[in-house]
Amino acid sequence: KESRAKKFQQQHMDPDTSAISSGYCNQMMKRRNMTDGWCKPVNTFVHEPLPDVQAVCLQGNVVCKNGQPSCHQSSSRMHITDCRLRNGSKYPKCQYQTMQKEKSIIVACEGDPYVPVHFDASV
Ligand code: UDP
Ligand code: UDP
Ligand code: UDP
Repeated sequence: KESRAKKFQQQHMDPDTSAISSGYCNQMMKRRNMTDGWCKPVNTFVHEPLPDVQAVCLQGNVVCKNGQPSCHQSSSRMHITDCRLRNGSKYPKCQYQTMQKEKSIIVACEGDPYVPVHFDASV
């Protein structure tokens, strides 16, 4: 089984994308295997270099939505895309809304090296 750190990268990292089209989420949610067996309802992709996102684990410590103390909020805003399942879209036709934003991200970090393993929220 792939590591949690690798799974975070697969589900949430897309550093090299410059132009994001309206079909971005439909394509990426499928390509990154989040439409296998169900349509994952919400997922965020981060368009920043991996080292910059890994560095968030050293930034402001905050409590995660689930109450764990292991979340960190980026000190800078980052380019992100939120993918949200469209109302009425049903598996296997997973249709997403693509929303580009610039926000601070909150990730949970684990391990040694201490790296992102979960995307908690953007604020
Ligand atoms: N999940 C679910 N039904 C599925 C697949 C996933 O309810 O058919 C839930 C489950 O709680 C899982 C979470 O969604 O842990 C995350 O699933 P995702 O597709 O993000 O990752 P996976 O673990 O399937 O690679
Ligand atoms: N998620 C995300 N971006 C967000 C919020 C949620 O990618 O801004 C993903 C993330 O993978 C998280 C999952 O959606 O683990 C479930 O989010 P949450 O625990 O907030 O679930 P919900 O609020 O939908 O119950
Ligand atoms: N996790 C954590 N804090 C949280 C939620 C999750 O440390 O608030 C860890 C937990 O060990 C889990 C891993 O992050 O196995 C990945 O969580 P999830 O599948 O929700 O990741 P996401 O869908 O956000 O990528």
